[in-house]
Amino acid sequence: MSNLKQKLDFVLQKIESARLAYSRHHIVRLVAVSKYSEVDKIMELYQCGQRAFGENKVQDLASKMQQLDVLPLQWHFIGNLQSNKINALLDLKPFLIHSVGSLELALALNQRAQAKDMVQKILLQVNASYEPQKGGVKPEECLEIGARIQEECQHLKLEGLMGMAAQTSDVNAIDRSFKIVKDLFDSLQGASVLSMGMSGDYEIAIANGANLIRVGSEIFRSYF
Ligand SMILES: *Cc1c(COP(=O)(O)O)cnc(C)c1O
Repeated sequence: MSNLKQKLDFVLQKIESARLAYSRHHIVRLVAVSKYSEVDKIMELYQCGQRAFGENKVQDLASKMQQLDVLPLQWHFIGNLQSNKINALLDLKPFLIHSVGSLELALALNQRAQAKDMVQKILLQVNASYEPQKGGVKPEECLEIGARIQEECQHLKLEGLMGMAAQTSDVNAIDRSFKIVKDLFDSLQGASVLSMGMSGDYEIAIANGANLIRVGSEIFRSYF
């Protein structure tokens, strides 16, 4: 068995335990964040059954999608989006954009999606740790901005929320950030996707109700 498959299986097993501890009826989807990786590894994971992959740069997404266009993969965009890259990103028709972190960005995306006569699925990113270097709306603005996107952006489909935990080894602080996003998710009309959890914290995220996690280094980084 390859090293990559072993690491994927290890992550899947941890997800399964965390999921069962939360609820037998709770389904968790895994987005394998391939930003550290080349297409041969994505292909290998595809052969293990993995379908959803995430990238944080529009150029990298374009290049990997093109190289792998024969495979039926589901591509997620998870990075900071500059307004001059919106057209290029929409043209790629990503399955889901996780990182819409302001009303301004949502309005700009909506306008371009309208011009292209398409509807793009998005998540609203919440900055639950209030870290200035992170994107996302403040928790106290989240529901109002979410409602405005639903009212004003006919060419976006707001599927839910994306959150990142506080950057700390303090488990309680991580837990608090995820709880804030979960509470907002429960209050947001029609939301079905709660994208929280990365390599260091996805078990805590699942314990707080995440149903989509984004794991990169634990799968792709080689230790051998
Ligand atoms: C890179 C990245 C991830 C994956 O991070 P790892 O710690 O490598 O698992 C998840 N989400 C976002 C937004 C990222 O940029």
